[in-house]
Amino acid sequence: MQQVIENCETEEPPSLLAEIIDEEEDPPDQSARDLILKQPQPTVFPTIVPFPLHRRPLVRKNQKSRQFRKKYYPHVSSREWNNWTWQVANRIRTVDRLKSMLSLSVEEELALSRDGIKLPFSVTPYYMSLIPADEPTHPLRRAVVPTVNELFKGPGEEDDPLGEDSQSPVHGLVHRYPDRVLLLVHDFCSTYCRYCTRSRVVGHGAVNAGQARLERAIQYIAANPAIRDVLLSGGDPLLLNDDKLEWLLARLRIIPHVEIIRIGTKIPAVLPQRVTPKLVRMLKRYHPLWMSLHFMHPDECTPETNRACSMLADAGIPLGSQTVLLNGINDDVDTMKKLMHGMMKMRVRPYYLYQCDPISGSSHFRTSVAKGLEIIKGLRGHTSGYGVPTYVIDAPGGGGKIPLMPEYVVGREDDNLLLRNYEQRCFRYPDVC
Ligand code: SF4
Repeated sequence: MQQVIENCETEEPPSLLAEIIDEEEDPPDQSARDLILKQPQPTVFPTIVPFPLHRRPLVRKNQKSRQFRKKYYPHVSSREWNNWTWQVANRIRTVDRLKSMLSLSVEEELALSRDGIKLPFSVTPYYMSLIPADEPTHPLRRAVVPTVNELFKGPGEEDDPLGEDSQSPVHGLVHRYPDRVLLLVHDFCSTYCRYCTRSRVVGHGAVNAGQARLERAIQYIAANPAIRDVLLSGGDPLLLNDDKLEWLLARLRIIPHVEIIRIGTKIPAVLPQRVTPKLVRMLKRYHPLWMSLHFMHPDECTPETNRACSMLADAGIPLGSQTVLLNGINDDVDTMKKLMHGMMKMRVRPYYLYQCDPISGSSHFRTSVAKGLEIIKGLRGHTSGYGVPTYVIDAPGGGGKIPLMPEYVVGREDDNLLLRNYEQRCFRYPDVC
């Protein structure tokens, strides 16, 4: 025991102390036992099998898509189904084909059989596989299948409510903010969203990816040193083939003042098969490259979409999402929260929640602004801050995005600011006047 005390005094490490005691023939007395118990015990870590960094997440099988494929494309192989060009070539575009998959409502049938609908109808087989056959009010179906409501132009609605055409110095290029431009690469989408802000343009063939037009846009950007950010949109830029898209990215990347390039796309939601290893390898060469993805409902967060987003995120591409607030589709806190959480799990940062633009024939999609504020109020403080997008109105007439927030500052009392938190509790903050 004397040896124990001597070792304590010489401050031997606890592990060694324990060893020494273990070697004692007689059990230590109580004080020595207490001393041992107070010492931090060595931690034994279990053996860890390192997770392979570059392994893609396992793709769970999407049962809905499998059953749909079996029923409507029994002779199509998995290879074909997972090939994006097959998906594009086999888009559902006719009433008869649509009728074979969905039982159409009167409103849908009327819309598809009459002239006057501006935006073409087109849906990829993959996206159609997420839509149940017998639910005319299903959110995904409402977003892509036209109804007769599109024919009614409500008060304040315009074909070009954001005044993009008047801010376009070159055909297909919008220069609204001093340091950035929007370049419409072409007007083609694989699946057309019925609430599309550019429904006056997309799918009409007036904006094409011809080299001469794109060269004019590139020259405009090169001649304006204030432009540091180019957003490629459309139509969907990822529907260009790899070579054409690379040509465009390379031409922009050599302009010294273009700091970042952004791609606006709905591909991961409607055609995730387009995100191939080859595409991702090419995109990586043009950093800093960002992507604004477009999601509007949690049902769009499928295993295929998760895989596409993972590949993009692994390539170092920051992913943000833009969501349009849509009546009867995502205009409640629970749905929106589920969507935000679904996107975050796919490493997509909720970026903007847009008030639906007043395009012609959009009244059935639009909600009140109060509804948008209610949703933000239901998210802020109730979930991770990263899961709360900025709610904006794109000002009619080309005024740009204006952020809207619920009222958290409720007043002032002398030098104190009166604030209300997410639980509706009030607090005083000593403000510097
Ligand atoms: S993907 Fe974008 S551009 Fe294409 S229809 Fe939808 S909202 Fe419009």
